[in-house]
Amino acid sequence: MQYGERVIERRHQGPDVEELQLRLAGFRGTVPDGDFGAGTELQVTKFQQDYMKMAQPTGVADRATLEAIDAFAEQYPINFQALRCTCGQCGGWGQGRFKGQYRAGQPKDEAFHRYEYPGIHRMLLWAVRAVFFYAPQHKFVITCGYRCAIHNQQKGRTSTNHHGKAIDLDVVMHPGHDKRDDMRCCNDVRGVLVERCHAQIGWTARNRKALEPADIAPTWIHYDVRCYEPKYLENRFFCQDLAGLNARREIRV
Ligand SMILES: [Zn+2]
Ligand SMILES: [Zn+2]
Repeated sequence: MQYGERVIERRHQGPDVEELQLRLAGFRGTVPDGDFGAGTELQVTKFQQDYMKMAQPTGVADRATLEAIDAFAEQYPINFQALRCTCGQCGGWGQGRFKGQYRAGQPKDEAFHRYEYPGIHRMLLWAVRAVFFYAPQHKFVITCGYRCAIHNQQKGRTSTNHHGKAIDLDVVMHPGHDKRDDMRCCNDVRGVLVERCHAQIGWTARNRKALEPADIAPTWIHYDVRCYEPKYLENRFFCQDLAGLNARREIRV
């Protein structure tokens, strides 16, 4: 079933379930496996409780819920201009090179995978929307999105995390705040991501969104999907513009 063509609930399977799981990545969040189990139900329940303010959430993605998800997307647009690679040569989203190649001398682990993914992982951006929602006291800017292999070369950097698998967020400093306040804000936001979006600090667990710890990223928030299994990092999960992120479909239920 395509997204929008039926009410989605427990035990359903298919592309519409996968789409729902992606869109609710910031409300607890599970793996986009297209199989509606307890994890997906929790996502829907959290969204209904927190965003829709339902007193008695049902965990069933009915018409009202699907419409509210679209409204949520409208409310938090993402600036793709800020996400594009600035190397001046790749067009913004790498060149699709180095699939299945890993950094020399490193294990064949996603952290060292050199593939230039075709855009930014949609789950990351949907989860960022939830951060905007859950932390309205902060103003955010995306300070880093895509950095392709050429950009890495230009800057003498080796990490491949920003080949579509990561973004960096910054909290705009309030007037009169100093670096220590800034660090506290970033820790706050990491807390939101752990508590609300099921992220982890560091990269220990598989299939969870990951945050660089404060000693690596004191005054910004680095957020990535490098702990996901390859099946959750397929090309179809990546997007290059707002239309691709939202993948808006008519709701006909
Ligand atoms: Zn580039
Ligand atoms: Zn980063």
